[in-house]
Amino acid sequence: MRSFTSLLVFIWLLACQATFSQPNQVSSRQIIQQKTNDPVNHDKPYVIMVSLDGFRYDYAEKYNASNLLDMVANGFSVEQLIPSYPTKTFPNHYSLVTGMYPSSHGLVSNEYYNPDKREHYKVSNRDVVEDGTWYGGTPLWVLAEQQGLLTASFFWVGSEADIQGLYPTYHYKYDGSIANEARVDQVLSWLDLPESERPHLIMLYFSLTDDIGHIFGPESPEIEQAVKEIDGVIGRLRDGLSNKDLPVNLIVTSDHGMVNAKVPVNLGRVDFGNSEVSKSMPFMVYQEDTDEVVRIYNELKQVPNITVYLKDEIPQSMNYSGHANIGQILALTEPPYVISERPRPSRATHGFNPITVTEMNTIFYAEGPAIKKGSVEKAHNTDVFLLVKELLDLDGPTHVIDGSDKLAKAAIK
Ligand code: AMP
Ligand code: ZN
Ligand code: ZN
Repeated sequence: MRSFTSLLVFIWLLACQATFSQPNQVSSRQIIQQKTNDPVNHDKPYVIMVSLDGFRYDYAEKYNASNLLDMVANGFSVEQLIPSYPTKTFPNHYSLVTGMYPSSHGLVSNEYYNPDKREHYKVSNRDVVEDGTWYGGTPLWVLAEQQGLLTASFFWVGSEADIQGLYPTYHYKYDGSIANEARVDQVLSWLDLPESERPHLIMLYFSLTDDIGHIFGPESPEIEQAVKEIDGVIGRLRDGLSNKDLPVNLIVTSDHGMVNAKVPVNLGRVDFGNSEVSKSMPFMVYQEDTDEVVRIYNELKQVPNITVYLKDEIPQSMNYSGHANIGQILALTEPPYVISERPRPSRATHGFNPITVTEMNTIFYAEGPAIKKGSVEKAHNTDVFLLVKELLDLDGPTHVIDGSDKLAKAAIK
């Protein structure tokens, strides 16, 4: 009887999804809220913000990515976009859309401990990933939705969470198995919606270059192939956009680079007592007892090939201090050393300090009616927020952000 009821509930859920979705290949996974653009916003431009996870700053030239090189030649680019520390996926995607360092927005790593909640954030734990209370700051889609502008996301860190009670009007729960081409086609069909339903800010994410980079390394034939493949996906998007008569500004960026590094550091002899520990890079120890902090710190100092900091010793250049989610002790490495839970780490990785490991630097390309032709040598990823905010002519937010308006001034006409 119970299983029959479950079956009915399941059929009902499927029927609901079909009712609220649009006819396309991937519609059953799309979540749509019934909203429309404020009519005063109809003439505003459109922004598509694409992230190619783990796309190192030199990949486009090194592997001759023709679409991205065309964006460099005819649009605006940053030679090396500097990510925020730690150079991990979740903190940096969220810095790109909030203009805040991880130590300000609170997503201080892919995995960390929150001493107030007494709970661990973990990318694989859907309950925390979809819980808006873990996400500080105001991401671009929330700012836009607050001001009567519809937004959409085909994946972006934070877009599946109820941040300040808001989601992108159109969004998906993360499912890495959805084909990259299908994601592009959905973005293009969002732009075919009637003016009142058409999203003005669209987020789009691809993991391919990160996935392949970890396994085969940033100098491999496999990453060359992956770069070419994802460049083709960008080509499909640009071709689709060229057939539409809409003022679309396209941004292609990423969260961090990639470097060969796979020599594990052995922390096996260190006794962490009753501390909470965040084990992936950066390695952090959460401990309220000061004597224990000193003891563990001294033990960690004996371990070869790591640098250990007490929380208040972390160099200012790393912009990684202050937040309660950062542990009392931080341990980090430089390539080829890694701190990993896996006995045999993958060939290449990221997470290092971008100030000392330039391979962590990444890309920023933009083109469109509001974008100048030109380039700058460097910019910080927290500067991207103000650029998009200005493109969409948004107000706020009321809280402080870390990014500057240098990139916006350099790139916008
Ligand atoms: P990492 O290399 O550990 O920093 O993380 C990269 C991985 O994060 C990618 O391979 C994706 O599978 C995963 N990922 C990216 N965005 C999301 C998301 N919104 N939800 C869950 N996993 C994600
Ligand atoms: Zn990443
Ligand atoms: Zn990665």
